[in-house]
Amino acid sequence: MHPLESRPCGSELPRVLIAEDDTVSRLILKNWIQRWGYEVVVVDNGEDAWLVLQQERPPEVVIMDWGLPGIDGIELCRRLRDKSRSYYHYILMVTGRTDELDVVHALESGADDCLGKPFGGPELRARLLVANRILALQNELIHAREELRVQAMRDGLTELWNRTAFLDLFKRELERASRVNGHTGLLLLDLDNFKQVNDTYGHMAGDLVLKEAARRLCLNVRSYDFVGRYGGEEFFIAFPGSGREQLCQRAEAIRKSICSEPVHVPQGDVPISLSIGAVVSTGEMSAADSLAVADISLYKAKDAGRNRSVLCEKSLPEIFQSSATQREICSECDPNRMASCVLTER
Ligand code: GH3
Ligand code: MG
Ligand code: MG
Ligand code: MG
Repeated sequence: MHPLESRPCGSELPRVLIAEDDTVSRLILKNWIQRWGYEVVVVDNGEDAWLVLQQERPPEVVIMDWGLPGIDGIELCRRLRDKSRSYYHYILMVTGRTDELDVVHALESGADDCLGKPFGGPELRARLLVANRILALQNELIHAREELRVQAMRDGLTELWNRTAFLDLFKRELERASRVNGHTGLLLLDLDNFKQVNDTYGHMAGDLVLKEAARRLCLNVRSYDFVGRYGGEEFFIAFPGSGREQLCQRAEAIRKSICSEPVHVPQGDVPISLSIGAVVSTGEMSAADSLAVADISLYKAKDAGRNRSVLCEKSLPEIFQSSATQREICSECDPNRMASCVLTER
């Protein structure tokens, strides 16, 4: 038995696509590779190979004949290398062309390796082991890159979207909404008197409170809403498609959930509450304007005594265009309060 034949076939072997138009070669390849423990997909022309490779989880290793009907091996290599870089295919070209220039051409077109026909089972199996090694390394790299990308978008303490990622998602959501004449609810939320929490229980406790507040926020949103940390003890939440009524209901539900019970930390039980500024963004409002209006609402909620949510239904230009020194701009989200909030020139 060849030494390679005795290697155990692990369950993590990549899947292999065999694209070969010659019936006998195709059968031999299929029998060998299946016997070595790989899951195999077999096609006899380039077009079918390309269809298989477009699938959501395509085989990672592609053994392709150079001369294939439909789309030839060289063209398949080029197409695969032009495809998304989130997925790496190891391409082993098998061909009767063993001229040096042909090998160079195949490798330059995107093949990782070239194997001249005829070849024996042990050599093919060894080449597949090389493919496994390269793919394992490649997958580690892709995984690490993905982890870094996610880390760069998350807030380290709360694991919510960070400010940059949130604003990016929010801008995209506003663009999408404007195309369908829709609207997007936005809440800006600020924990009340949080400095006192730090001063009384210490910053470590403060951090635990921030984490718990973030968790409670997430409990009160739908899967397609998104929650971010603006910075410090301030958060924002976007509600795609939510209009005035729905946004006010969400704001009040979140506010009540936050203050429903104290946060239990080793240093004691910390009562918390939250003030919320709300705005419904329409297609005409930019992300920056929406945030500015939510910020004005938030300050009104603080001014009015904290632990409340306030909605502003004016756009930023409407707020600034008014010449009155006292302008009614916001109203409380809680239907039991309903008081109008007046913006006073400072
Ligand atoms: P207000 O009700 O007006 O919002 O009062 P406040 O005390 O919450 O607001 P202020 O802006 O005076 O204080 C915010 C505090 O939040 C001060 C800062 O030390 C604290 N803070 C900001 N980021 C963090 C953090 O990551 N961890 C902890 N523990 N505290 C933080
Ligand atoms: Mg052929
Ligand atoms: Mg603040
Ligand atoms: Mg605060």
